[in-house]
Amino acid sequence: MANVSLKHIYKVYPNGTKAVNDFNMQIEDKEFIVFVGPSGCGKSTTLRMIAGLEEISAGELKIGDAVVNGMEPKDRDIAMVFQNYALYPHMTIYENIAFGLRMRRIPDIKRDKEGNPVLDKNGNEIPVMRKYNKRELDQKVNEAAQVLGITEYLQRKPKEMSGGQRQRVALGRAIVRQPKVMLLDEPLSNLDAKLRTQMRSEIVKLHNKLNTTFIYVTHDQVEAMTMGTRIVVMKLGFVQQIDTPKNLYMYPANKFVAGFIGTPQMNFFNVTLKKEGDKVRVRFEGPEASIYAPYSLLQKTAPRYLDGNTPVCLGLRAEDISLDPEAVKNSKTNIKVKISHLEELGTETLVYGDIDLGYDGIEETDTRIIIKAAGFKDYKTGEIVEAALNFGAAHLFDRQTEESIMPRIPEYNYLDCKVEEGEISFAGNKIKLPPAMECPDGGGELLIPVTAVNFGGEISAEVESCENINGQILLCLNVNGDRLYALSDSEQTGSVKIGLDFKKLIIRVGDRQIDPMPLINGLTGTFVSEKTPESVNGKTKKVAHYYLLINGVKLEAPAEIYMKMFAATAGRKVYNSEYRYEWTPCDFALSGSGIEAQVLEVLDYGGERFVKCAAGGETLYVKCEGSPTGKIYLLPDVSKVSVIEREREIRIV
Ligand code: ADP
Repeated sequence: MANVSLKHIYKVYPNGTKAVNDFNMQIEDKEFIVFVGPSGCGKSTTLRMIAGLEEISAGELKIGDAVVNGMEPKDRDIAMVFQNYALYPHMTIYENIAFGLRMRRIPDIKRDKEGNPVLDKNGNEIPVMRKYNKRELDQKVNEAAQVLGITEYLQRKPKEMSGGQRQRVALGRAIVRQPKVMLLDEPLSNLDAKLRTQMRSEIVKLHNKLNTTFIYVTHDQVEAMTMGTRIVVMKLGFVQQIDTPKNLYMYPANKFVAGFIGTPQMNFFNVTLKKEGDKVRVRFEGPEASIYAPYSLLQKTAPRYLDGNTPVCLGLRAEDISLDPEAVKNSKTNIKVKISHLEELGTETLVYGDIDLGYDGIEETDTRIIIKAAGFKDYKTGEIVEAALNFGAAHLFDRQTEESIMPRIPEYNYLDCKVEEGEISFAGNKIKLPPAMECPDGGGELLIPVTAVNFGGEISAEVESCENINGQILLCLNVNGDRLYALSDSEQTGSVKIGLDFKKLIIRVGDRQIDPMPLINGLTGTFVSEKTPESVNGKTKKVAHYYLLINGVKLEAPAEIYMKMFAATAGRKVYNSEYRYEWTPCDFALSGSGIEAQVLEVLDYGGERFVKCAAGGETLYVKCEGSPTGKIYLLPDVSKVSVIEREREIRIV
């Protein structure tokens, strides 16, 4: 029983394939996690890194409290079940299950023939490593066999067992070891469809019985959806989304996840959106049809998508479209469909068609539609019917990036504003802009990131709703009738006072844009070591020290940093590589020595001041007091550095 933590995990194979990129996840004890994605997306590689069968290129992997990056598989307290269950054919099932245990040593204390502890001359017990005895083996094998329902087959040989039974034996071999984490790599893909379904529920039951963390790899989204407490969807080495089955289905973060999860696949249509008062006109490309949706459904969407021109992809699941005459009569968002053919599945019928009446619905056009209807249906090929679209369940994606444009946590709030003599008016409030945000007078737009709202300021707001989204608390605030989303540390209700973190805001007035202050400072450098004579236990020895070398300045790296750099660059040229060292503006001290920089200006954001300075061709923003001028020296806090290796572009610290 253990949690598993993956931080900035990368796998770059020697041939340069980046199989896994910046994998971050906190797996809680006893979770059933499924890694899912098409072949080659990096799911097995990730699992094999957790198992210790594949070296980790960069990042930190913890099982329980221990960092296991360099630990042998056998010491990780994990058990792995593969697709190919590879039982020993000449051994009985009992022996197959007991085999792993026979090879193990367990800690005990030395005992005499009667089983009493033998003590050393100081009266202490003597620790020893010993094998399992027959009674213990029997007990463990029988327990596992019972859990898996194979007790009666223990004396058989594998060839006398069915595929499903053999897979159970493979599971038995893993569970007798009582691992902290069970890793399963496509364990069911060799079984036929019926057996797969049966074993699926058996594995879920097994997970409940064992109360152990399970990590399961599959390419089958149905398997993922029915088994996982949380699912990691991967594509081309990148994590696309980590969430519960329900949330993946309801709130896919991008078009890939939307299309991958659920059968039949989600319908996608090319549309443009135009805000017209409190409605949004959704214009379909192809059939030249339009529907009107209430703007309230699209409030988390950036205004630029609502200009009537920006290409958007509309996603609707087959069950969110209805042909039921009653539903069509009551719906204001209907569209014409030309029926092509039906797939009758008994309890439901999949109706295929096209919303472009010029097509036949058989061809996979951009306008093809699949509708789920209850029971048997009797439509004729070529028939034109009205379908009601449940726009409340619609998904919208940027057609270029394929990211959702209605994320559960929006990035920005978009508000109309007016700037006049250094004061900004928005949502019925007028506040003074800090000196750093010099802005011309005029009307425009204010973009407030949800992370830029703090609590305890001057602006009055009412909490309209409070939503916990995977541990992040999103408040929907009403500020004099305008809606404002804000992330909060705690749940809140009623009236609140809020303030704004000015350095994160964007103001657009005319063709001027006031940008937020960059929150990451990057400096390029190398890594060096130096040996210095030091007195160790009264003797003079040469001791190695390690440094980040930036613009000719050596900054000593603490052990936790250089160990990670060595681990991530093992076998590579740690001293010959170039690195990007990154810090936040708060991680520097202005000092009498350090990295030389030239002050460009001091940015006064009201409560906070930052010095904008140039250091060897880079522009940096550093928190400061007072008004430094001319030449300054910066001392970054090396323990807080993030390091990116330039050659492979991977984050190694
Ligand atoms: P999945 O399990 O999702 O099918 P893998 O983790 O097996 O994917 O592979 C991810 C990527 O890494 C693929 O592009 C694959 O070709 C590549 N890959 C896997 N193993 C190796 C290897 N030993 N050497 C080089 N590339 C590899």
